[in-house]
Amino acid sequence: MASNGVPGGGFTDAAVLACFREHGQFVMCAHEKPDGDVLGSGLALGLALKAMGKDVIYFLDDEVPKNLRFLPDSDLVQRSFEGVKSDAVFVFFDMSDQSRAGEALGWVPPEQIVNIDHHLGNKRFGRWNYVLEAEAATGVLVLNVIAALGQPITPGIATCLLTTLISDTGCFLYSNARPQTLRLAAALVNVGADKDLITEQLYQTRSFSGQKVLGRTLDAAVMTDDGICYSVVSRALLEEFGATHEDLEDVVGALRAVDRCEVAALLKESPDGNYRLSLRSRGRFNVMAAAKKLDGGGHFRAAGATLPGPLPNALSRTLAAVRTEMAAQIAADRAPT
Ligand code: 5GP
Ligand code: MN
Repeated sequence: MASNGVPGGGFTDAAVLACFREHGQFVMCAHEKPDGDVLGSGLALGLALKAMGKDVIYFLDDEVPKNLRFLPDSDLVQRSFEGVKSDAVFVFFDMSDQSRAGEALGWVPPEQIVNIDHHLGNKRFGRWNYVLEAEAATGVLVLNVIAALGQPITPGIATCLLTTLISDTGCFLYSNARPQTLRLAAALVNVGADKDLITEQLYQTRSFSGQKVLGRTLDAAVMTDDGICYSVVSRALLEEFGATHEDLEDVVGALRAVDRCEVAALLKESPDGNYRLSLRSRGRFNVMAAAKKLDGGGHFRAAGATLPGPLPNALSRTLAAVRTEMAAQIAADRAPT
């Protein structure tokens, strides 16, 4: 229990806690194209460590998305390693392996890494690893750490943590929003988390260009007889409306919402000609397993990968990986128990 009554999960990993107590400088590391879980986690722990008198740097090799700039301390996020000392500890949030952090953080040696994550199959790539695959968001683990360090959950920390929950549960829509998740959210609102600001920014604010791209992408969607709903966002389409990947947040969810859809797939062309794949499942099929076949990863119902172009290759590999996983599950369902 954090000192002001927010439930924390009885976290007792002495080595991880000693790391935070004994070191002087921490670099909070987010992955490229950050979401509310990775940024909210890093900012929450950063605020708590600063309250303990620690030196904190927030690193992100990307821009902070517009809809997350309300987060406290998000204006301090930096794209360089300026001010980072040689004995700094790097805290990686919400990443199943170090490569997810992007090239800019590839050089950080494991001896200097704390890895806090909730993805299936996390590679335990740090010297200190705190991984709970069953938790709804990395922010839950961060709360446990803050509580174990005896720090109070301030309104700013509460807003960051509630953002992690709201972001990774799709505003409590997905099946990972369980009773304890809702209780935790209520406790965070109770100590000052600004729920209305978070939901307004994450779910009720879209750029006009993003809505136009959503419309075109739905118009071009294909629904296969075996339950896959897929579409593609080309660079040309983004350029036509002046949109970026940041504007595509909910598009794959709109594909999954189709009543006959079991698995939704969205391929988004990057400036380098590769395709970012987002997969979503209605719940019967494990899209993380499909993404793994494409050197990606994620969760049972939400996963992703990066595929080289050209588009026909990326699309056929995607469909083959999804279908292999579907066939395996259908065979397992039929097998006598
Ligand atoms: P999204 O479709 O929102 O980009 O990603 C969905 C989930 O899959 C997130 O939890 C994300 O961390 C994970 N994910 C997306 N792309 C990759 C990837 O290339 N590798 C791994 N390991 N996980 C990914
Ligand atoms: Mn997450």
